[in-house]
Formats: sequence, C-alpha cells, structure tokens
Amino acid sequence: MATAVTHYTSYKARPFTREQRDKTTILFGGLTWKHERLVQGVFNNLNYNAKPLPNIARADLDAGKELIDTGACCPTIFTTGSLVNFLKSEVAVNGKQKTLDDYVFLTAGACGPCRFGQYHESYEMALDGMGLKDFRLFLLAQDQLDQAPEKPGGLEINMHLSLGIVWAILVGDILTDMEYLTRPYEINPGETDRVLKESADYLFEVFQKRPLRTNKYGMLAWHFLSGYFADALRVVRKKFDAIEVDRLQVKPKVKITGEFWLQTHEGDGNYNIKRWLEQEGSEVMPPPVAVWLGYLLHTPLWRLAAKPNIDRKIRMKMAMIRGMEKLYVGTYNRFRKAMAYVPHELPDQEELKQLASPFFHHELRGGEGHMLIGKALHAHLHKHANMTCELSPYSCMPNTMSQGAMANVLGRHPDLLYAPIEIKGDAEVHALSRCQMILTEAKKRSQSEFVEAMAKTGLTLEKIRQIEEKYPKVKKATYRVPHMGYASTAANYALHLASLRAN
Ligand code: SF4
Repeated sequence: MATAVTHYTSYKARPFTREQRDKTTILFGGLTWKHERLVQGVFNNLNYNAKPLPNIARADLDAGKELIDTGACCPTIFTTGSLVNFLKSEVAVNGKQKTLDDYVFLTAGACGPCRFGQYHESYEMALDGMGLKDFRLFLLAQDQLDQAPEKPGGLEINMHLSLGIVWAILVGDILTDMEYLTRPYEINPGETDRVLKESADYLFEVFQKRPLRTNKYGMLAWHFLSGYFADALRVVRKKFDAIEVDRLQVKPKVKITGEFWLQTHEGDGNYNIKRWLEQEGSEVMPPPVAVWLGYLLHTPLWRLAAKPNIDRKIRMKMAMIRGMEKLYVGTYNRFRKAMAYVPHELPDQEELKQLASPFFHHELRGGEGHMLIGKALHAHLHKHANMTCELSPYSCMPNTMSQGAMANVLGRHPDLLYAPIEIKGDAEVHALSRCQMILTEAKKRSQSEFVEAMAKTGLTLEKIRQIEEKYPKVKKATYRVPHMGYASTAANYALHLASLRAN
C-alpha cells in the first residue's frame, strides 16, 4: 500500500498588508548599534514603525543552538538566537497572537555558496520549533535595490527604502571610523562615547526627516547630488571638534577583517574583541560595511569582462557600472571630506583583487572571498596597520578556505602579523589569549616605529610636546594626521609635528 508523502514546501510569509502597517513593527539587526539607529531613522522616514533587535548577547548562542541544525555557522546561531529570545520575551509579556500580529522581521539575504543564502531557513526552523511558524519574515536581497511587488503590501522594498539603508550604512561607517580613531587617544575618558551617542541621535533625526521624491530616479539623483547628508556630517564634525586627544600615546594599530557579520559586530558575538583590543592598549581599524557594498557593485564587471564576446550592450553595461561605482565612492569621499578627511579611504576593489590573486581566485565567492587576503595585504603593504586580526566563525566554509590561503600568504610575507581567531561564541579565553600573542609583537613594532620616527625628527619628546602646544588644532579629534610611512599613529604624528616646526 502506498504511503502518503508530505512534500517539503518552503516558507511563505503570511501577508503583511498596508492596513496593518501602522500597528506593526519591523524588526531588523546584524549591524552595529550606530548603523541600526540610522536605519531605524530611514524606516521612520517612510512611515514604518521599526526597531533593531537587542544587541547580541551570549544567551542568544544557547537559544540558537537549541533550535537550529548543529552544523550551522556561529553568526547564523547567534542571529537566530537573538530573534528567538526577543520573540520569547514578547510572547511571555503579550502572548503569542499579539506577538505574531505586532511584528515582522526583515533580514538581508543573497544567493551564494555559504549559509547567508539560507539564514531565513534557519529562522524558519527556529520559529517552527518554538511554535511561531506564522511569524512573518521578509528577505531584502542585497543585490537588488528595487524589489517592489506589483501590488504594494505592508512592506515595500523599493528604491526609497534601499537608498536610505545604503546611505545610512555609509554615514554609519564614517561615524564608526571617527569613534575608533578618537577613543584610544581621548584625554577625558568617556567623551568619545558621549559625543558618539549624541551624533547618532542627531543623525537618526536627519534620516527621519529625509526629503522624499515621488519618482525613484529623482530619489536616486537627489541622494547623489544633494548636500543634505554631508551638511549633517559637518554638524557631527563640530561635536567631535571638542574632543581633545593625545596622539603621542604609542599604540599598535590593529586592522579587523574576517567574516562579514563577525567583523562588523560589536558585542558578545565576537567577545567584544574591538573594545578588548582598545583596553589592551591598541587602536582598532574597524571594517567599513561600505567595502562589502563596493564589492557587490564591482564584481559584475569581472563577470562581464570574462564573456567571450563583448558586444556594445555589454560595453554599455560595464560603463554604467563604472559610472555608478564612481558616484558611490565619490559619495563616501564627500562624507569623509565633511569630516575633514579623517576617516579612512575605501580600498580600491581592483587592487584588493590583484593583491589576492596569487593566493585566491576572485571568482571563488562566498563569505568575504578573496577580500580577506586582499585586505590583510593591503593594510600590511601600505603600512596602514601593525597587525591584522581576522575573525573567523566556527563552522564557516568560505572563511576556512581563505584561512588556508593565508598560510601561503604568510609564507611569502613572514613579517605580516596575522591573528586568525576562530569564534565559537563560548571560548573567549582561548580566542583572546591567541590574539594577545600576536598583539604583543604588534606592540613591539609600534614602539620601534616610534623610536625610529623620533630619531628621524632629531628632537626630544619634550620638544615635540612644545610644538604640539604651539599648534592647538593638532590636538583635536578632527585633525587629520597625514600618513608619513608608519602604521602606528604616534610615529606618523611625531614626524608630522616635526615637519610643522620646519615650516
Ligand atoms: S560566510 Fe561563513 S559565517 Fe558567514 S554566513 Fe556564510 S557560512 Fe556563515
């Protein structure tokens, strides 16, 4: 007798209608609290209620492990657990039906060889396990700016929303860069965090009040041409202006690379490693999300260039992509300019590819692909950092490949200080002590850079301090110290002060 077969059907969210919009809150997460605050402003600007999920905590790892497959990578477990814990607490307070009605969750997704393409499946599995299969999840495909359905529903993933999110990410990156460039050197402890919070609140309002154009192309043009966000950043610059810093403190500069979520995250998900590195006496170079967006924008060029017959249509497509890329990088640089060019430049995607090419093919996608190698070499060869700390998730396939290739890189560049840290979420002491071993070497490097730079100046530290006193503006957080050939800030700063004296 034939047995009935129940076929697998993929998750399909219950409808989220226009009428439900006012009573429904969109949940989202996955970035830093600053980026998320600005994204929240974008949602509000388009008349959505939205709020980021609480910052990831250690308890989210346990919640995620209970409900999804055991082989999942650590970011999937953490982010699933975070949604689960939030919904559990809502159900406990407001009951199941109200939780189902009050919230929807928006997550980014993509097609690809890693689990990022299946995050929503993990969420669905967890929701099923906790009896909330009717909870609504929506996917924002990261490579499609306009996904508007024919009939508008409660959530319209259109150009207005996507452009707002991308601009919030760029501004969030600039703000984050300012934070990490300032805090290690602040004279009054806690001042950077206070200014940062004030700036994020101010920028939240800027995004909330973003002027809207009805036409999507008009909206696109306005984002590229208007001075609205650069003006807002100039206001933020004034707030940072008031922070006094002492850049003669010798600290190693540590570049953070690794898997997208882990390197971006600030919290228990990566053992708060950025804060920990600062507490250990270093300056951290955080990874801008904008590099990932730049990668998404640039990679179609390689695929088009590899086609056997490049006709007029392809050439036009390539020209359009190049044009968009120029506008994108130009926008980021406009924002840097508003902050007196203090935040770091974005690396050139072609250079990252070339640096990585002897070790890793650029068409091997998934995770950070070749960028992990390209970024480590970029920071090392340009002397932007004394060491690279690479955050690699437990059970991540793409990162395992890149790490394997890094063994070859280190063979050819033995002076590159590289700390690959596997992050499981529950092995903090092991991970941090591993990082500390390389950090000790990086500290020695920054010290010897400073000694060498001081020898070049031919001046005593006392004399350098006197020059500093003569030019009070150099002590502002918004003063740009030029790169003088060293990785660490103190060495560049000492040489720069000496050059001021000579002028
Ligand atoms: S890159 Fe690795 S850690 Fe990130 S989602 Fe993919 S498999 Fe998971």
